[in-house]
Amino acid sequence: MHEMGIAQQLVQIALDSIPKEIENPKVEKVNLKIGRLASVVEHSLAFCFEIITKDTPLEKARLNIDFIAVMVHCRSCDHKWEVTGPVFKCQFCEDGDVEMLTGREIEITSLELAD
Ligand SMILES: [Zn+2]
Repeated sequence: MHEMGIAQQLVQIALDSIPKEIENPKVEKVNLKIGRLASVVEHSLAFCFEIITKDTPLEKARLNIDFIAVMVHCRSCDHKWEVTGPVFKCQFCEDGDVEMLTGREIEITSLELAD
């Protein structure tokens, strides 16, 4: 289950980004951006997150995940299109010079602190 490692990294980043001057901070919501090719299982991530965040400012924070579509770009003909899995060939010019623009990201976009 690779979600444990991901959850640990995300929790570390979240904890580091809480301003030090806030006393007893409490995070209510963590907004995340996860690419559809990052193969993160939402309930596994939420489960790991819950375990790791016990007794931290992130305890009981909700995860709000925005799943990002996989977009690829062909360097030969400059087409961009959305796919549901890895692509090795352009569907327009059949060239192999295809790069992935989005779809693998795992990022925190923002934290919402309780008042
Ligand atoms: Zn092309």
